[in-house]
Amino acid sequence: MRQALIAGNWKMNGSLAANAALLTALREQSQSLHCELAVCAPAPYLFQLQSLLAGSSINWGAQDLSVHEAGAYTGEVSASMLQDFACRYVIVGHSERRAMHAETSELVALKAARALSAGLVPIVCVGETLAERESGQTAVVVEQQLSPVLDKLGSQLAGIVIAYEPVWAIGTGKTATPEMAQEVHELIRARLAQCDNAAAAVVRLLYGGSMKPDNARQLLAMPDIDGGLIGGAALKAADFLAIAQAA
Ligand code: PEP
Repeated sequence: MRQALIAGNWKMNGSLAANAALLTALREQSQSLHCELAVCAPAPYLFQLQSLLAGSSINWGAQDLSVHEAGAYTGEVSASMLQDFACRYVIVGHSERRAMHAETSELVALKAARALSAGLVPIVCVGETLAERESGQTAVVVEQQLSPVLDKLGSQLAGIVIAYEPVWAIGTGKTATPEMAQEVHELIRARLAQCDNAAAAVVRLLYGGSMKPDNARQLLAMPDIDGGLIGGAALKAADFLAIAQAA
């Protein structure tokens, strides 16, 4: 049985004051949830997450990490730094990083491996652009993004979370229909099973892309959708909690 995970990706949003209000509301209202809740914030706020969420049922994490352990890598954040702030999760390969920071699937695989070796759970993002979907390339693109990760992680596969995030649905208000999302999730699970049957049964597959309170229930009802990676709606306590209640 896979426990649903609803993870927020704050992207480059937040302030000490706004975060405090949001985290306090989440902490106060998350007791009766059946799913796991997590928040992935910009690195400067990890200390605040640790301070305000420690002892609650909410987990937290970062949005990226370096493949390097330490050294002359200006601006990078290492896995051990994330450990210092008791992060559980780290997002790797978000489409915004693939598109704006030229992250390749091979680099994403290295980041996922680095996270796992430090005891962090990588949330590995995959997903096609609109042009790729419209030209019938969705399965090929997802396979190309996934296969370096599967090759690199081998027997560690059970320790990851995968987020299917069609790029055309991120921050656009356009959501994949539950059937469209399920079709890709099923494909991802089958691909995992080719590598490791046991891992395929336990790895949680999140959907991301304009998941909101009004579409979450239908998406989360699909058999291979085990939660959501939530951008915009994670910045409002009421919306984020409503999605979590649907899980
Ligand atoms: C995301 O950034 O991962 C995301 C899914 O964003 P949104 O929910 O705003 O589409």
